Amino acid sequence: MSINNIDEALQRISELADKFSGTYPDRDRNNEYPRQEMDELKQSGLLGFSIPPGYGGLGANCTEITEAIITLSQGNPSIGQMFLVHCLLGASFLDELAPEPLKKKVFEDILTNNVFLGNAASEKTNDPKKGYDLSFTPVDGGYEISGKKFFSTGSLAGDKIAVIGMLDKTMALGIVPSDAPGLEIRDDWDAMGQRGTGSGTTIFDKVFAPSDMVMASITDASRQMAVTNLLGPITQIGFTGIFIGAATGAMAAATQYIRETTRAYPWPGLDFDKAVDDPYILVQMGDLSARLAAAEALTYAAARKVDVALEARATASADEMAQLRGEASVAVSQAKIVATETGLKVCQDILVSCGARSALREQNLDRFWRDIRTLTLHDPISFRVRSVGEYVLQGKLPTPALRY
Ligand SMILES: Cc1cc2nc3c(=O)[nH]c(=O)nc-3n(C[C@H](O)[C@H](O)[C@H](O)COP(=O)(O)OP(=O)(O)OC[C@H]3O[C@@H](n4cnc5c(N)ncnc54)[C@H](O)[C@@H]3O)c2cc1C
Repeated sequence: MSINNIDEALQRISELADKFSGTYPDRDRNNEYPRQEMDELKQSGLLGFSIPPGYGGLGANCTEITEAIITLSQGNPSIGQMFLVHCLLGASFLDELAPEPLKKKVFEDILTNNVFLGNAASEKTNDPKKGYDLSFTPVDGGYEISGKKFFSTGSLAGDKIAVIGMLDKTMALGIVPSDAPGLEIRDDWDAMGQRGTGSGTTIFDKVFAPSDMVMASITDASRQMAVTNLLGPITQIGFTGIFIGAATGAMAAATQYIRETTRAYPWPGLDFDKAVDDPYILVQMGDLSARLAAAEALTYAAARKVDVALEARATASADEMAQLRGEASVAVSQAKIVATETGLKVCQDILVSCGARSALREQNLDRFWRDIRTLTLHDPISFRVRSVGEYVLQGKLPTPALRY
């Protein structure tokens, strides 16, 4: 399927999200990776969404990626998260950090062979102060990768897996086919939320990666901490988009439930026939909708600031760039703080308006809350609130890094 521009892509994403919202309750209930939905997404012509036009992609900017993630997450937040990982790895990260031949090869693979990227970075038991336990060992023509990963979001969807580990004392990234000898992807992600993300265990037993598919040092401070590097804000606003999408999906599900199922309760002194006329339900749903609209507006405003900083890279001085990047990062953190709080509140409080029967397992209306609660643990919000405080009180801009 060919998609020619961003508008067409966003339209297609919206159609897919509508469709995926129908299977989301059962996928969640059955603790299932949404294989058919992901196959459809992979065949949809959308995988080059964020690849720069110079390489043949659609070149979505940060605001457009955010819109795509919000929309897709309304349908199923697990699919939103996997698509985000693909967009980040399959464009932003490589564009920023990879040598030209690697970048070209992966982009080409995505665009011509519909290759979807999953990741294997985090580990369950490593000592974060020392880096990862997984190792890259130089061998003839490339590297041998050995170790065990967990939180491998998108690994079940991935035709290729981006794996991060230690090469001597520096952090390396390799891209290997998911069917490479020695690579085992386990379908063992068993969490209370984001159940469809395939975020379980990945085992590497002497998996070979040729030299041209390995970046030997991704922690090179000059690149990672450059003021022109916007990977942190792009990543974090993407996650914020998933919270907004999930909460929007929760509001839609609650609206339908209240219209169709919630009964008008005969409280003394109140006279109405339908739940949609219940003044307390009206007040609560109005309040939740206002909070969510504010969090969404903040999210888009932050994404636009990231785009301003990205566009300024061509002309801004180092000082101007530091300021623009720092302000974008603070705006993203502010949006993520508000979206975390608002998303959790919306997904919890819809149940009050829907009524007691909405807590029955057959309704599965808690899926949105379980998804947001799980994903908001991805990186702790307290650090982010503190960094905004440092900006407000000390005028300190966040140091460029993957999380800021
Ligand atoms: C649904 C889901 C999918 C995920 N997918 C991926 C993925 O695809 N790739 C990936 O690399 N990671 C992924 N993660 C993992 C995430 O990035 C963290 O590595 C993970 O949350 C660490 O959790 P832990 O339970 O081991 O925390 P611990 O390391 O046990 O945390 C101990 C304490 O440190 C705090 N803490 C933990 N991590 C950080 C941090 N990074 N910065 C500051 N404080 C911290 C915790 O809040 C806690 O108080 C995913 C997480 C979730 C919930």
